Amino acid sequence: MPALYKSKEKGKMLFLQRDRCKACNLCINICAVKAIIPDTELNSRAGYPPAPNPESKGCTYCGTCELVCPDFAIYITDLSLLEE
Ligand code: SF4
Ligand code: SF4
Repeated sequence: MPALYKSKEKGKMLFLQRDRCKACNLCINICAVKAIIPDTELNSRAGYPPAPNPESKGCTYCGTCELVCPDFAIYITDLSLLEE
């Protein structure tokens, strides 16, 4: 599931390169609205990457997690790039 959140209204999505993530949790800790939590499944780097938090009100597409990610694994991008 590479797109953690999608907004048709904003034309944006929060995208995760799942196997690029080293599970440092910086994104999870910085998110002001607690939209992401550690996944329950490991990735190929034996870490738990971020996943949507069902207890939250969702992503605001603020881009803060993108700014702190050292591995460029999570970022906001245009929803139109997603082929479905
Ligand atoms: S874009 Fe903002 S609201 Fe969405 S997960 Fe990242 S830090 Fe949280
Ligand atoms: S900041 Fe980047 S590398 Fe760290 S847990 Fe989040 S997505 Fe993974």
